Amino acid sequence: MAAEATDNKQRAIAPMLRLPTSPDAKPYLVGYRCPACGAHFIGAGRVGCSKCTATDPLSEVALSDHGTLYVYSIVHQSVPGVPVPYVSAIVDLPEGVSVRCNLVDVEPDPAKLEFGMPVEMVTRKVRERKEKNAQGEEETIDIIAFFFKPSQN
Ligand SMILES: [Zn+2]
Repeated sequence: MAAEATDNKQRAIAPMLRLPTSPDAKPYLVGYRCPACGAHFIGAGRVGCSKCTATDPLSEVALSDHGTLYVYSIVHQSVPGVPVPYVSAIVDLPEGVSVRCNLVDVEPDPAKLEFGMPVEMVTRKVRERKEKNAQGEEETIDIIAFFFKPSQN
């Protein structure tokens, strides 16, 4: 099904976030897996495995969208335009990698946050910008970022 001409286009805020290309697909984070030992890494461009020292090319894989809260900090001061307080966190994924992110859908209150609590990835539009497309027409691009929120499992 073709998108409406008036629909804003979407772009991920960072290369590790992949946006769905069909309506039934979900966004996901990408990692890189060592074919020799199965270790996972975050970030493209790695030429060898630091766990087993293999230098075989790593394969790009979709990472789990569920993890656990490893650590967090409640941020009370930020740059102008960024609402505070918010929860900055590191989330551990089952693949053995950690992701730096912000938590959403939870009060920035230590009483509501627990180390090890289950969290799941969500995406939100965080801003938009105007860009010229290949035909020289200006179009609006939604910038999409990923967050984690508390989950039930
Ligand atoms: Zn390895």
